[in-house]
Amino acid sequence: MTTPARKRIEVAGVVQGVGFRPFVYRIAQRFEIRGYVLNSSEGVVIEAEADESSIGQFLAALAAELPPLARIDELTVAAIEPTGDDHFAIRQSAALHGQFALVPPDVGTCEDCRADFTHPANRRYAYPFTNCTNCGPRYTIIRDVPYDRPKTTMDEFAMCPACQAEYEDPANRRFHAEPNACPECGPGLALLSAAELEHAQPQFSSDPGILERARQLLARGEILAIKGLGGFHLACDAANDRAVGLLRERKRRNGKAFAIMARDLAAAGRLCAITPPDCELLTGPRRPIVLMPRREGTDISQNVAPGNTRLGVMLPYTPLHHLLFENAPYDALVMTSGNLSEEPIVSRNEDAWPRLHSLADYFLLHNRKIQTRVDDSVVESFNGREYPVRRSRGFAPDPIDLSMPVAEVLACGGELKNTLCLTKDHYAILSQHIGDLENLETMEFFRETLDHLKRFFRATPVAIAHDLHPHYLSTRFALEQTGAPLTGVQHHHAHIASCMADSGISGRVIGVALDGTGYGTDGNIWGGEFLVCDFAQFERRGHLRYVPLAGGDSAVRQPWRSALAWLDHARPKIPLFDQVPAKQIDFVQKMIDRRIQVIDTSSCGRLFDAVSSILGIRHETTYEGQAAIELEAAATEGGQIYPFELTAAAPFQVDLRAAIRAIVADYLRGVPAGRISANFHCTMARMVVDACARIRESDALHRVCLSGGTFQNLRLLGESVAGLRQRGFEVFIHHRVPPNDGGLSLGQAVIANARIGVAK
Ligand SMILES: [Zn+2]
Ligand SMILES: [Zn+2]
Repeated sequence: MTTPARKRIEVAGVVQGVGFRPFVYRIAQRFEIRGYVLNSSEGVVIEAEADESSIGQFLAALAAELPPLARIDELTVAAIEPTGDDHFAIRQSAALHGQFALVPPDVGTCEDCRADFTHPANRRYAYPFTNCTNCGPRYTIIRDVPYDRPKTTMDEFAMCPACQAEYEDPANRRFHAEPNACPECGPGLALLSAAELEHAQPQFSSDPGILERARQLLARGEILAIKGLGGFHLACDAANDRAVGLLRERKRRNGKAFAIMARDLAAAGRLCAITPPDCELLTGPRRPIVLMPRREGTDISQNVAPGNTRLGVMLPYTPLHHLLFENAPYDALVMTSGNLSEEPIVSRNEDAWPRLHSLADYFLLHNRKIQTRVDDSVVESFNGREYPVRRSRGFAPDPIDLSMPVAEVLACGGELKNTLCLTKDHYAILSQHIGDLENLETMEFFRETLDHLKRFFRATPVAIAHDLHPHYLSTRFALEQTGAPLTGVQHHHAHIASCMADSGISGRVIGVALDGTGYGTDGNIWGGEFLVCDFAQFERRGHLRYVPLAGGDSAVRQPWRSALAWLDHARPKIPLFDQVPAKQIDFVQKMIDRRIQVIDTSSCGRLFDAVSSILGIRHETTYEGQAAIELEAAATEGGQIYPFELTAAAPFQVDLRAAIRAIVADYLRGVPAGRISANFHCTMARMVVDACARIRESDALHRVCLSGGTFQNLRLLGESVAGLRQRGFEVFIHHRVPPNDGGLSLGQAVIANARIGVAK
């Protein structure tokens, strides 16, 4: 007999809440390893005692047979003294302080669990809180690390003997499944009308009749507030015009598209043209909303996504969702965030009636507490790869590997679509989508999220990064903090740094940042920016020519104001001058001429607004980006280039006035708006390529990063990427974080790190 060896194996990566310890236990049994495994704040620690060759086989199996959701980022093995253990155990977790921990994101229901709750003979038949180590709630229920049941909101539910036996059986799929539950012992549902909920305390039960009644209510066109995984949804039958219209009216959501939950992939395929990459995104464990081209002639209400050629569709991701479709007459439900306009998503039962009673007829509640609110994520595919729009449920707080060491930094993000970011080790932890920081409720959500993430990841920031805009609530928050130095980061520099970090590149690049609004170092509003930058600094090589925009925020809601700015006193016979009252036009023109409440802007978003209004597509908006979205939707295939000019000055200016004149001339000649829109998109893409070519001459750089909210326009993105590649540029776009302001905090964080001298 050989002398036993003992190894301490430390594993970092996605190893908690994914069935990793049971997996270790099983392979330890197979190779007769003694010792233990436990979750630590850093990941998982294993001590393995056996002869050298068995330990070798054990390690090989550890790497080769990983559970589907697990991922090993780092594995260290050290020889230690044998202790003479006689068996292998899963030990209670040890709380380690000040070290790195991984909190897993929530995972969509797995096929095995689905089989359980749809099989009449199974003890979990029709039970909406079924889960296992491969699926179920994680981030939304975790109170602290390490991830163990007593540190989740499931601590209120004592497991019944049957569940406890599963939990303790290393061979069971529910071995150490922390939210393990069944109809006997776990959370239950309650269904009340708005009037009932006002006066009565909900009584929760696992009676399947509750689900049957919820399905009947949905089928007859009622609007339900449904408590889900990360918060409430407002749901109704997507084919019911009256219900969808009523929901739209109640939410005061005039034009913005509602997300749809489809029964299954086949139902989703009847609504949208699904490509193989879209299919992967739809059916993957993260279960985001996927934006896809909608089909004509479906029975979905026109009120779901008016003026949109695309539809946001997701598949059921909790047992409750699956069960809402079981034997139901509808195939698709509107599932929009349960909130009043602009406020964060509601997540607590006690807030449901006060906040949502004006929106919902009935409330389907459950009594598993949501510790952390998380909205649905939104993604699309571009050139066969994932292109994020909103990174939230299923993604957060999965750390983004930066492949470089970073200090502990907090980045506060921007104002719209805010996220915050903490960096530590070589990771960036980006929060879920917090929302538009325009009210106290959202600011409270920001603070709450920061507290959670600091605790989960044991982070103590040594620097705090913020946007340069003095009025953003995120900036003001940063300025209130004491104890860590602040660093202001220019908005578009942050966009490009975010794209660089997303792509895992460093050094100097050409950055093209196109968006609606970002505070510039000259006090103007920037948004059509051509930079040369690295993580530490940027130089503005060029920008869209400034135009005078009258009226600040109202200019964002009234694209016709942008049109006036771009028309430069011309008054051609276009719909704008018939459809917007002459008095208002004269008033705004006077503001521009006398420079009253006028700001100079190089915003690309406002240029899209201007063209949308000039073509009579949209003069006033009800949600951010509406005019540009409808302009893109109108564009036909192909297109020609309108004239424009890059001035010789430094920084150069992109002067598109000739293009605007040509657009007006085409319109007056009767060229259809869709063709003009196509031409405009081609022109903008050519403008991007020409500007990059100009910078390549002066700076000898060939790597281009494309970022900013305007690049959510896939037509522009596609033509820009193709044009740049054709001219020999290496092009980087976003794949892990959104190009819009939701990705801003990541850029701020890596810039702050470069400035304190950690990242190079
Ligand atoms: Zn499962
Ligand atoms: Zn049970």
